Amino acid sequence: MKTAGIIAYVLAGILLMFSLLLILGSFGATGDSAWRIAGLIGLGAGLVLIYAGARLTTSATKTAQNVTVKLDLPGNIKLDSMKCASCGAPLDASDITLANGAAMVKCHSCGTTYEITEEPKW
Ligand SMILES: [Zn+2]
Repeated sequence: MKTAGIIAYVLAGILLMFSLLLILGSFGATGDSAWRIAGLIGLGAGLVLIYAGARLTTSATKTAQNVTVKLDLPGNIKLDSMKCASCGAPLDASDITLANGAAMVKCHSCGTTYEITEEPKW
């Protein structure tokens, strides 16, 4: 479904570009009012495609979000800068679980399990 959304966006971009050129051209010396009508139709079709693309891509991301487990981590924890307290291996979201309301880390590298404590604010 996400690919369909991207295709809709690309088509919309091409349509809008040509439509704008047509409308701009219609105001020129060699322009024709028929170009303006065609351009307006193209603009409308482009906007419909953008709407369709947005619908397709948001529905795709919504289903992806439902799969991921929502973690309520204590504040001030930056996942990308977290390292295992035991071996220093970088930790990622899949290493973190919630147990009794506390965020627990199970290091994928050395297997150590411990609770995440909030870093002091300086
Ligand atoms: Zn470790």
